[in-house]
Amino acid sequence: MPAVPLLPAPLLPPQPIASHGQRWQRELADAVRDPLELCRVLGIDLSLADQARLATGAFPLLVPRSFIARMQPGDPGDPLLLQVLPLAKEQESVAGFSADPLAEMDALTSPGLVKKYAGRALLLVTGACAINCRYCFRREFPYAESGATQAGIQEAIVAIAADATIREVILSGGDPLLLDDERLEKLVVKIGAIPHVRRLRIHSRLPIVLPQRVTDSLVAILANTRLATVVVVHANHPAELDASVQLALGRLAASRAILLNQSVLLAGVNDSLDTLAMLSERLIESGVVPYYLHLLDRVHGTAHFEVPENVALALHASLRNTLPGYAVPRLVREVPGEPAKVWLG
Ligand SMILES: *Cc1c(COP(=O)(O)O)cnc(C)c1O
Ligand code: SF4
Repeated sequence: MPAVPLLPAPLLPPQPIASHGQRWQRELADAVRDPLELCRVLGIDLSLADQARLATGAFPLLVPRSFIARMQPGDPGDPLLLQVLPLAKEQESVAGFSADPLAEMDALTSPGLVKKYAGRALLLVTGACAINCRYCFRREFPYAESGATQAGIQEAIVAIAADATIREVILSGGDPLLLDDERLEKLVVKIGAIPHVRRLRIHSRLPIVLPQRVTDSLVAILANTRLATVVVVHANHPAELDASVQLALGRLAASRAILLNQSVLLAGVNDSLDTLAMLSERLIESGVVPYYLHLLDRVHGTAHFEVPENVALALHASLRNTLPGYAVPRLVREVPGEPAKVWLG
């Protein structure tokens, strides 16, 4: 996920949140952005908030309240909290960690379009997210320069239409489900009108962090396109999948989209056999197939999340000995220049 730390700027003009009555939009507007408030709500040491303020740099704290509600009050080591609370360690410069470890800027084939792999093109539709994950590989990605703007998207659609090798369009970002249903529908219709495109994939953390985003109209958009649809959600810990998320995933399943999950292996968050096994089981019980378990992409400020490769391999081997095959995610690392994600183990 990518020079100079820039705020992931919204690529599309900011949504007029107040005028949209959708509950998820109100919840997003009400998300916690102040570290002090987060510490107060959770009843943890307020000095962590001072540290967080100093550590955020250009990537601020952002976390929806429904996600905070799944954290354990009083526990500064809560695995969900660790994913969002800026820590002083982020400011340390560590050899091997850079701004764009995946060389995504080099893979931009047209504004907002990243084409690295055969048959698939990834469209950056917005730089914004509903949550700022501290380990995010695109935390330094220069969205504005990448062309992820409304004009850029139009250009990208033209580029997709001109390239008959593209069979699958992946909506990514940022989080593509931050587009409201009206914009999303227009985009899906445009993509669906390109004859050689067969599949639509959406990479989104919203069904997990803001389950109200799974509206009836979203389900209808996915159900009504002629494209085969795949939704890849992103959960890292079983505690992220509470009853509200399981319901949302059930609604999504009604669209007949294939539901997959990708996780990042994160020290202190999910680097244990029990946690990973429970995550897989809860995903399966929610109708979601574990797809990828990513080794951390080495972006600035994330070194404290890294799990050494030998540890990752051992964990993955134990997972294979514990779970049915379909519940074992592929352990992968993204290596710039390779024709696919590299499978390990
Ligand atoms: C990860 C990624 C994809 C999707 O890869 P799959 O192995 O098909 O999931 C496509 N394009 C880019 C640029 C990616 O980084
Ligand atoms: S939701 Fe995804 S893109 Fe957004 S901050 Fe988290 S990891 Fe990064």
